[in-house]
Amino acid sequence: MPKPPAPLPASLRDMPPAELFPDIFAQDAPHRGFARGGRAAALGALAAIDPVSYGRDRSYLDGHVTRLSPYLRHGVLTLAEVREAALTHAPDTAPSRVWKYVNELSWRDYSVRVYAEVGGLIWQDFEPYKTGLPASSYASEFPADIKDGETGAACIDAWSRELRQTGYLHNHVRMWLASYVVHHRRVWWQGGAAWFLTHLLDGDPSSNNLGWQWVASTWRAYPYLWNRGALVKYAGDRYCASCPLADAGCPFDATYTALSERLFEGKEAAPGESGHLDSARLEAVPWEPPLTPEVALGAVVWVHGDRLSPTNEALTAYPKGPAVFVWDDALLKEWDISAKRQTFIHECVQELPVHVLRGDVAAEVIRLARAHGASTVATTPSSSPRFRAIVTALEGAGLAVQHWPEPVFGESLTPLDLRVHGEYWRQISASAFGKDPAPPKPKRPRAKKGQSVKAKE
Ligand SMILES: Cc1cc2nc3c(=O)[nH]c(=O)nc-3n(C[C@H](O)[C@H](O)[C@H](O)COP(=O)(O)OP(=O)(O)OC[C@H]3O[C@@H](n4cnc5c(N)ncnc54)[C@H](O)[C@@H]3O)c2cc1C
Repeated sequence: MPKPPAPLPASLRDMPPAELFPDIFAQDAPHRGFARGGRAAALGALAAIDPVSYGRDRSYLDGHVTRLSPYLRHGVLTLAEVREAALTHAPDTAPSRVWKYVNELSWRDYSVRVYAEVGGLIWQDFEPYKTGLPASSYASEFPADIKDGETGAACIDAWSRELRQTGYLHNHVRMWLASYVVHHRRVWWQGGAAWFLTHLLDGDPSSNNLGWQWVASTWRAYPYLWNRGALVKYAGDRYCASCPLADAGCPFDATYTALSERLFEGKEAAPGESGHLDSARLEAVPWEPPLTPEVALGAVVWVHGDRLSPTNEALTAYPKGPAVFVWDDALLKEWDISAKRQTFIHECVQELPVHVLRGDVAAEVIRLARAHGASTVATTPSSSPRFRAIVTALEGAGLAVQHWPEPVFGESLTPLDLRVHGEYWRQISASAFGKDPAPPKPKRPRAKKGQSVKAKE
């Protein structure tokens, strides 16, 4: 006789995260970050965006950045619906006035697609550092004074505190802080990426690690640097005014040439250094419209951290289906997820019709399916290698897994060239503006020799 299925443990849905994760909450003082979790809060933040002003001033720390990233990261909002909100922002808003914003959203779609292709390789240097220094000259230990905000440089210390206390940093600050960590302190970018992942409410190996690799020059032809002039231009004197290093000893008060000479051994990779990514792998990634499955009899729904919304397509396909969210204990430990991020996720989960469990995700989903005699698990796609491993385990247990896709952000008529964002954007931009997908736009002429090439910011 087959053994009867083990009964499900009680749902942890209403258990406060401080009780679920007492160790983290005891060691990590800020228990709440800059944004509240959940769809209602997300829609409130979406209603407040100003994508037109964004195009003019997003590089300034007080500019109209939208702070939607935690909602996009956790699928509380989709890129497609944020794009729609931007395009219909004001009845007379021409698409060209929100071009920059839609283009910026595309960086997330792009990063997620690259992550889907490279998987765990996202943690390896794609290319060698172009600093003339071997990878071995970058320290693997992350400096405590940066973590604690005690370097003595007012800007760096303020950003470190802001990260820890709020879980958010402006894009420019992320670049500046990453550049300081990697180039001034000569620390392995992976250590900085792990630090960000712990604290950012939007922490995501896709955008995060690509951002760090870009700054480090392991995914770019040259390292990213900034100086005091750029800081004052975009941030005013809010840091320098109180900085003990302002009059003497500011490490950023120099020209780019002087900084390069001080920090690097050259402009190319050190002899014998190589990267881990064969870029041909990203050259022609098939693009096909995602298929929507048929509703099956006897299915359970698995909701995961990449689509924490009541509009989750698997949840809406099975409005009465038993649904589960599982706190992935091993992942939380591996990423050392902060208390404020757990609070954010908890607030998202509380709005969902799900039974909440914790532990080994595949084992718990299998337990739910068995408890309901189900042979199908309906879920939403994710680019993470961990998601793939869980799906493999579910299938190994004899369950069929359905992937319910969210609306696409941009369609392409050709396989995607993901080696650089510009190529990918040429392929999807027509459709990203709500038009029918079109052949790739013609290439923009390259900057002439001697002309400066605009940095990503
Ligand atoms: C070192 C470094 C680490 C980063 N880590 C992350 C991360 O862990 N998670 C994350 O979502 N983004 C990350 N980014 C990208 C970017 O900084 C943030 O998405 C953005 O600052 C979030 O703030 P916002 O919502 O106000 O952005 P806005 O400027 O208002 O942009 C709107 C949305 O577009 C997307 N977006 C904008 N810029 C980028 C970008 N360069 N790459 C990918 N998506 C982008 C985000 O989803 C963002 O919410 C990182 C960038 C760098 C340089």
